[in-house]
Amino acid sequence: MNAATTAPIAAPTEARELPRLTAGQRALAAAQAQFDAAAQHLGMDPDLRAVLRVPQREYSVNFPVHMDDGSVRVFTGYRVQHNLSRGPAKGGLRFHPQTDLDDVRALAMWMTWKCALVDVPFGGAKGGVTCDPRTMSGRELEALTRRFATELQPIIGPDSDIPAPDVGTNAQVMAWIMDTISMHHGYSVPGVVTGKPLAIGGSAGRADATGQGIVYTIKDAAARIGIQVAEATVAIQGFGNVGEAAARLLHEAGAKIIAITDVGGGVFDPGGLDVPELARRFRAYGTVANTPGTKPIDNETLFALDVDVLVLAAMEGQITEHNAHRVRARILAEGANGPTSPGADPILRDRGVTVIPDILCNAGGVIVSYFEWAQNRAALAWTRDEVNDRLRRQILSAAEAVWDRAAADRITTRLAAHALAMERVAAATRIRGLYP
Ligand code: NAD
Repeated sequence: MNAATTAPIAAPTEARELPRLTAGQRALAAAQAQFDAAAQHLGMDPDLRAVLRVPQREYSVNFPVHMDDGSVRVFTGYRVQHNLSRGPAKGGLRFHPQTDLDDVRALAMWMTWKCALVDVPFGGAKGGVTCDPRTMSGRELEALTRRFATELQPIIGPDSDIPAPDVGTNAQVMAWIMDTISMHHGYSVPGVVTGKPLAIGGSAGRADATGQGIVYTIKDAAARIGIQVAEATVAIQGFGNVGEAAARLLHEAGAKIIAITDVGGGVFDPGGLDVPELARRFRAYGTVANTPGTKPIDNETLFALDVDVLVLAAMEGQITEHNAHRVRARILAEGANGPTSPGADPILRDRGVTVIPDILCNAGGVIVSYFEWAQNRAALAWTRDEVNDRLRRQILSAAEAVWDRAAADRITTRLAAHALAMERVAAATRIRGLYP
């Protein structure tokens, strides 16, 4: 029998299973669907739509790193600048196994809208390296970061593109990038990254800023629908930079945190979790799972808990058309970027869930990153109270605009947030005109 006769016969197109999308492809499809809905709502002209729907610049690098076992491993990294009409590019760097170009494209686009919505003078960017930092030693991570920073040097800088922490990165990673770029220049360049440690020009309040912003927007949304945060029950997915700060600050505000999950598992206590103890366990073991005195819980069960507030602070695409009908929370606070898929939005709306959309809810990080960058440029330092006061005013002013727009146009808070942001970016892009 020859090869031709043994070759499998292809099923008719409609019976064939569609190829499974990667997490990055799903995130990009979600970002573009949200963009299309807002462009449609605004009646945006097709030329502008074509410009804003895709990133302006994409940068990919492959670079070698010496591993502890003596081998050399080649890593792939990305930086995508989505739109620069309103200022230098701004956005986090992610170290995660699922990081790919599509994921970074989606996250860069969301950064453009976020910066515009909260009116900081930046365009949107995002970057990352496909790697699993949890399996790497501190030395390997430093080597990877310094080499990646070197590869990024042609496109990052205080006037061009300013990275910050995101999933899998933190203040230490920012310090290595700042130091690497400074070594190449021969003088300190603090403004090249934000989210740095205080000792090298970081801002008071930056480490907690995303969580703090989440808490301000939750208090605001809660007041609008008659909930007191001091009496609220809360479930949180994710216990990293964002989730830990949100949990701690909500706990301090009197809320009862009854469930938390992270990548290693989850903990549940209907009487209220001991958040400071969980933070200690997380630092020691890298997960809150198996904390004595708590019951285990998984993500799907956490999403369906009967709580006042559900905070998503982990990854994209968690609430979808498949599980949105199980959400019982009254407020869904999107601490993560893109945690809710477009198919879930109408289900949440019909269930009366108040959604604080990601580009508003988690914007505290980029607002205080802007404050850090401005302080670095002016060579001065604000107090934590000054930072938090400015953060509260800036994020709540954006929140008010979102709620007003949603009411005026009878649309969801997500569509209102995107419409407001896209109008600003469109205006800047239009008034600058086309070069040449
Ligand atoms: P991080 O790496 O510090 O923490 C991520 C957390 O999510 C970890 O606790 C991890 O265990 C958990 N996690 C990962 N996969 C999970 C899963 N399948 N189930 C449950 N938990 C899981 O990252 P971060 O900086 O806290 O970022 C979290 C989200 O917030 C991301 O979407 C990020 O883009 C967004 N964000 C971060 C900032 C910032 O300042 N760091 C600002 C705005 C938005």
